[in-house]
Amino acid sequence: METLPTQDVMDGEYSEEEECSQESGAWGRLFPLGESFIAMDLNKEEYSFGRGENCDVPFNNNGSKKHQCFQAYSKVHFKILRQTTTTGVHVFLEDFSSNGTFINGDKVGKGNKQVLANNDEIGLALKKNKAFMFMDLVDANDSDIPDEIKERYTLTKTLGRGACGEVRLAFAKGSCEKFAVKIITKKKFTTGGKHAVNLSKQVMSEVNILKALKHPCIIGIEDVIDTPEVLYIVLELVEGGELFDKVVSLSQYDEPTAKLLFYQMLLACKYLHEQGITHRDLKPENILLQSDEKETLIKITDFGLSKFVDAGSMMKTFCGTPTYLAPEILITAGSGTYTKAIDAWSLGVILFICLAGYPPFSDERKDMDLPKQIMGGHYTFPKQYWKGVSEDAIDLIKKLMTVDAAKRITLADALQHPWFKDEDMKVKSQKLMYPDQDVMGPPSTKPKSSPKKRPMAPSSDEPEAKRRGSCDTNSPPTTPTT
Ligand code: ADP
Ligand code: MG
Repeated sequence: METLPTQDVMDGEYSEEEECSQESGAWGRLFPLGESFIAMDLNKEEYSFGRGENCDVPFNNNGSKKHQCFQAYSKVHFKILRQTTTTGVHVFLEDFSSNGTFINGDKVGKGNKQVLANNDEIGLALKKNKAFMFMDLVDANDSDIPDEIKERYTLTKTLGRGACGEVRLAFAKGSCEKFAVKIITKKKFTTGGKHAVNLSKQVMSEVNILKALKHPCIIGIEDVIDTPEVLYIVLELVEGGELFDKVVSLSQYDEPTAKLLFYQMLLACKYLHEQGITHRDLKPENILLQSDEKETLIKITDFGLSKFVDAGSMMKTFCGTPTYLAPEILITAGSGTYTKAIDAWSLGVILFICLAGYPPFSDERKDMDLPKQIMGGHYTFPKQYWKGVSEDAIDLIKKLMTVDAAKRITLADALQHPWFKDEDMKVKSQKLMYPDQDVMGPPSTKPKSSPKKRPMAPSSDEPEAKRRGSCDTNSPPTTPTT
């Protein structure tokens, strides 16, 4: 059977639970990223991978299980070689395939060879069809990872960073199941002395509360490993990235999609509030997407622990720009007591950004600095950017972004807002949240809505500038506000 071009096959759905093998004397290890691949240790100098039976690692068609990408693989698809060069010993990947072998999404190309580094991801035939992650056992520096973790998980590449520390991709020993591990250095929570011990206890008790949370739109905590210096929180992994990056790449969301995602955010935060938890750090970097699809399940992360960050640094958590910070926090300079209403404000800012593609407050305004804009609620909906957005959506944003916290809409009431009188959207979100349940919605009476084409918001050349709320290259129009 000849290799078929990639476009003739589709991404496959197949699963095979395989054990992570571990051999001593190995210089490298491959972790499976795609479900039909298995973990293996590398100790020979050369390995061939492909559809051919004579390969060192023949790809398995999994018998009855349909492996749709299988036919796009070449008989020898790629080789991994460990070679001594003038600059030392290096690991290379050589591409032999017709459809391509990818390293971190870049095609190596038939006949080409490329150095394979620690944490590199190998894709086959399609950029998206990730097969393995390579771990360089000679190069991998895991000396500061405690044994309690190493016994149970192998930590690999960094998935993201935030105020509390970093989050890394981990594979469970034995099953190779993937997780995200959040690494929190305890001193970040402490102010020193006796207080530090108490705080650490408090953090643990809070983590235990978070562990009990169960909601499809809230990242699940799988495991917590507490060591004297560092707290490791093992989280359910999501692979669609941050809402932030999606807004940047799309410029903004069309209204039906924004509504579908925002509805889930409201449900999740309302659930948190009902459990007595205020998130406090809602922003598009903390809203994760389950998949690359536009209509996807969202999962809120990074909740509940920010209260342990002391009052002064609560504002620092926002990395200098208070884009999502409720006015009452700024008014009291971080020293007041806040209610759940601070989350409603942040959600309003998030909805604004999803629909417009730029933040409601701008650093660039000459007449008023950013805190003043927020404390006074000086934001507008200029026609040129908002004319494709419904009155209902704008009304909900205004009710969420109400400066007076006592008058601000609650999340329960927000869910009853006319904008959500949309049964199609509710059925869709139920299906995303509870895919195993048979969700029956009322019959649809209106034609399928197609996203309206809306004018482009000011585009950002440098997405990082928009991150953390800086408006430098992506400022909203500086029209006078009321
Ligand atoms: P911090 O408190 O440091 O901001 P977060 O929990 O927000 O930590 O994690 C930082 C980043 O790591 C997130 O913005 C996201 O990109 C990534 N991340 C966090 N949790 C997960 C997860 N469960 N799956 C995938 N990526 C994650
Ligand atoms: Mg975060």
